Amino acid sequence: MLAGNDPASEIYVRTKIKACADLGIFSEKIAPPETATTEELVAMVEKLNARPDIDGILVQMPLPKHVDSRRVLEAVAADKDADGFHPINVGYLVSGRPAPRSCTPAGIIEMLKFYQIPMAGQHAVVLGRSDIVGKPMALMLLHQNATVTICHSRTVNLPEMCRQADILVAAIGRPAFVTANYIKPGATVVDVGINRITDVAEGLRLGRTEEAVRKGKAVVGDVHPLDMARVAGAYSPVPGGVGPLTIAMLMSNTVELAELHQNAG
Ligand code: NDP
Repeated sequence: MLAGNDPASEIYVRTKIKACADLGIFSEKIAPPETATTEELVAMVEKLNARPDIDGILVQMPLPKHVDSRRVLEAVAADKDADGFHPINVGYLVSGRPAPRSCTPAGIIEMLKFYQIPMAGQHAVVLGRSDIVGKPMALMLLHQNATVTICHSRTVNLPEMCRQADILVAAIGRPAFVTANYIKPGATVVDVGINRITDVAEGLRLGRTEEAVRKGKAVVGDVHPLDMARVAGAYSPVPGGVGPLTIAMLMSNTVELAELHQNAG
């Protein structure tokens, strides 16, 4: 469900629809107008909840400002919650029970496993504490037996805290904020941030081209890309690893929900 006309959201939804098509998953785009009310969106979600041919529902964030996003998200049935945001599924994550998982952190765990980055006993620092990235990331690393520290805007001595990390995950939405002095040499760094650069000089400093900046296509993460390449032992840059993995995990959640429904009925 894509409510309103946010251009970035339109691109994300298009990418998700394409991923479904590539995998042979049926998808349907519901696009209520910008003016739709909370009640109208909740009613649309409830209709989808009742449809047996729908296994997963995704409400693209952000919703228009006047809408109570929490109410709309919580209207999605927990067993159709492809994004893993429903409080019941968050509760399952806390207690380590199977359920749809928040896609970005779930993708990061898959990536760390794939590249055989040890997690058990390692010190993981998660920079950012949002409900969709930071908090679930910290819980998932904990379930992998990492020792986890969560940092945020009120953390004191941030560079020092981050420098203790064997695994550093940055999800704050601040372009190239994490510089060399935040990174322990040889650490694994996962950059989650997606920040569009509009200043040419800044873009050039961060290794982007003038053309990309002028076309509005220059994106950097939360970690300084040149510092990360120089100091980290392994890293996932932006653009790159985490974005495509998020979509892959959305597909994975959807297939698991479909299997759940088939097995139940
Ligand atoms: P939010 O804005 O919801 O949360 C940001 C977090 O970062 C907050 O916990 C905030 O702390 C913390 N923070 C902000 N500034 C600082 C600072 N100067 N020092 C320390 N901590 C700070 O963001 P999201 O978690 O939703 O997203 C983070 C980034 O990841 C964004 O750039 C977003 O675009 C990107 N993203 C990428 C995805 C992908 O698929 N690649 C998916 C989701 C997000 P506090 O709580 O104290 O305010």
